Amino acid sequence: MRSVLILEDKPDRLEGFRKAVRSLGSEFVIREWSTATSMIAECEEHLENTVLISLDHDLVAEPSAGVDPGTGLHVALHLAGYLPVCPVVIHSSNTDASWSMHNELRFAGWQVERVGPIGDDWISGTWLPTARSLLSARSASVTLRRPADHIERMKRTLLSLEGLAIGDALGEMLSYRCGEAGRRIAERDLVGGPWFHTDDTEMALSIVEVLRLYGFLNQDALARRFAWRFQRDPDRGYGSMTRKQLYELQAGGKWQATAGAAFGGQGSMGNGGAMRVAPLGAYFADNIAQVAGESKASCVVTHTHPEGIAGAIAVAVAAAVAWQQRESSSSSRRRVFFDTVLTHTPPSNVREGIERAAQLPETFSAQDAARVLGNGSLVTSQDTVPFALWCAAKHLDNYPDALATAICGGGDCDTNAAIVGGIVSLAVGHNMLPAVWREARERFPFEKPQERDKRSKT
Ligand SMILES: [Mg+2]
Repeated sequence: MRSVLILEDKPDRLEGFRKAVRSLGSEFVIREWSTATSMIAECEEHLENTVLISLDHDLVAEPSAGVDPGTGLHVALHLAGYLPVCPVVIHSSNTDASWSMHNELRFAGWQVERVGPIGDDWISGTWLPTARSLLSARSASVTLRRPADHIERMKRTLLSLEGLAIGDALGEMLSYRCGEAGRRIAERDLVGGPWFHTDDTEMALSIVEVLRLYGFLNQDALARRFAWRFQRDPDRGYGSMTRKQLYELQAGGKWQATAGAAFGGQGSMGNGGAMRVAPLGAYFADNIAQVAGESKASCVVTHTHPEGIAGAIAVAVAAAVAWQQRESSSSSRRRVFFDTVLTHTPPSNVREGIERAAQLPETFSAQDAARVLGNGSLVTSQDTVPFALWCAAKHLDNYPDALATAICGGGDCDTNAAIVGGIVSLAVGHNMLPAVWREARERFPFEKPQERDKRSKT
């Protein structure tokens, strides 16, 4: 089956497209949207088999619908956040807007053609020959490789992302009075939502979106996604080196060069690779060796120092092992957690810190543990990851307590809680994340509007 995706609101044109797609052959199916909003929300599910996309620009809402249908430019901007998947035709009569769409897609590497809707039979006369020639040409595009159990993988990936996002937002909110975090979380003395997340979740979202679309960690796509997201929403508390790298990526720089050049060519040992990686550990959780490889690949797009990489591997493996042991009440769970992480984390200060964390009694307070292990106040991987893993291991069965401990330790509170939340959520499952917190967290961009509506009513 080969899908042709069409954005078009006029019934007579849609009839023409249906006929044209039928004439391409029986293996072709047409998928239609009349609003940009719905197409953006739904098209990614279909992109795996998509061979061509054709976009109108001006869309008229049905008077009864009461929603803004958006424009074709919205869809073009959305697609431009990814590497090309297939060729695109722009079939709008709005010339200026067509060129804007054309430019956005072309700058992002997509193959684009414009077809002017002139005359009565332009679909069969101009659009169809253009479609045929695009379909027969080999265009530079990324082949999607979603595994057979992609949907199952995405469920746990989104669970980890949700755990991470709540931790990030709560950690940020409580960071100025982190000593009170234990009491305020225990007594649920927290302000209402939305709880805005920071760079940790923004970058995790990019990882999740790449996995969600392609089914594997494509580093070029991830670099594109990081830059795309930063361009739209730069004020999320990114560190200064990351900001510099993201500006360079936006300007067309290659991630290999920008990441490698950080800190005079040493590469960054910041905690940025670790803070965003738990959902990736969830996606590959049934294969720990793969988790280790893919987490390193995700890290080096911005952080190439061995300490930065070791921290990302440790957190991703921790997330995977938390998921693997989600139903275990075994007394050996904590030991298996640390043993698995240590087996896969390369020799480094990070690994030495995790060895100390594994030895440190659970009865220690968060502050005492932070004194021994660090708490991210240096924002390095080795100062962050051992403490975060100690908090996660101590509370693998209690998500609120895990976050409270992570935040009480002070330091880089939002990142510590993001890491801990991304891991522990996988061990406890959705139902153990407080419903009020899930409600309060900021919505993710790919959550469908109706889900948002449903939430706000409950
Ligand atoms: Mg942050």
